[in-house]
Amino acid sequence: MRSPTNYYLFKYAGIEFMRVVSILGSTGSIGQSTLDVIRLNKDDFYVFALSCDNNVELILKQAIEFKPKYIVCPNNNNAKYIAEQLPLNSGIEVLSNNESLNYIASHDDVTHVVAAISGSAGLESTFSAVKSGKEILLANKESLVMSGQLIMGYANKNKCRIIPIDSEHNAIYQVLNSTNERYLKKIILTASGGPFLNTAKEVMSKITVEQALKHPNWSMGKKVTIDSATMMNKGLEVIEAFHLFNLSHEQIEVVVHPQSIIHSLVEFIDGSLLTQIGLPDMRIPISYALGYPERIRSGLNGIDLTKSELSFLKPDPEKFPCLELSFDAIKSGHEYCVGLNAANEVAVDLFLKKKIHFKDIFTINYEMLNNTYPINLDSISKIIQFNDEIKKKTIAFSSKFFS
Ligand code: MG
Repeated sequence: MRSPTNYYLFKYAGIEFMRVVSILGSTGSIGQSTLDVIRLNKDDFYVFALSCDNNVELILKQAIEFKPKYIVCPNNNNAKYIAEQLPLNSGIEVLSNNESLNYIASHDDVTHVVAAISGSAGLESTFSAVKSGKEILLANKESLVMSGQLIMGYANKNKCRIIPIDSEHNAIYQVLNSTNERYLKKIILTASGGPFLNTAKEVMSKITVEQALKHPNWSMGKKVTIDSATMMNKGLEVIEAFHLFNLSHEQIEVVVHPQSIIHSLVEFIDGSLLTQIGLPDMRIPISYALGYPERIRSGLNGIDLTKSELSFLKPDPEKFPCLELSFDAIKSGHEYCVGLNAANEVAVDLFLKKKIHFKDIFTINYEMLNNTYPINLDSISKIIQFNDEIKKKTIAFSSKFFS
């Protein structure tokens, strides 16, 4: 791997294939997979900064291997611990103030930012990266759900490329290009259906946290795994696609595809359907986004089609009512998408803490969506304020479900 000194030399000598990467959320599932791909393609990347929330032991290991210039940890005590544990003269600076994430997301030397902080906590730093015109590898779907118009507006103005890492959107991104996008008729997002696809409706009310955390195909963080179980994840992905590909809600369809091999499709006006096919492993979309427009190794092979069965079915709206809420939110307006996302974050957190039942997640999301009201959200600070307000209201409303 090139040392930072070499990186500066190469960068200023104008070598363009060298990528300088900040990873926002390096200890989460996406962050770890990103480092796996970088490890395989060492000569093309310099890891400039890593960030974590609580997983201090893992970030220390990552720091020793990748030798970043900065580690950011918003929690002061954790940051202190990390700084103490780093080898003497490591040259790694540990930052922990509120602005630190924005600093590593917008630093002049950084070319690529991996936005992999889960939930609304990732919004500000993603926005900083977009405003500074970085190449964004977007895993934080909430950024687009909460502020799609604003972010896409800045991205277009700053000629900042946003490459989705979310596997479905990544597949669509791989299919679409400037020549064929004008012929797009609609997109079809595929959904695995999660762990309860074949569970009887009557049993759905008794689902436990442990059962909901067992995703059949994907290994992911807890929040997104629960969202997959309710299919709210697909709902948030509908909103994400709506902004990312500048579509109307009529142009987005969801199909359940339990094998998670076809990662979404684009239908063109001539009736052709194009797709990307691969193993359900995030290293594939991540390597595509890191290497773009080149292809780099992901560590995986293509799928053996002779051993694969592909099936498709319609989502069951009675069993997975959360999905429809996202279409309702899009039709109602931006603030409703923010409200739905905020409510869902609270509800999933309460479910993970075993304070509410699985079925309450929908009831809470539904009620809070209906209690969202028209408001002008034309800045990130207004969005964050509104998000916080809906979260507080959701906590108050949810207390009646506490068991
Ligand atoms: Mg996805």
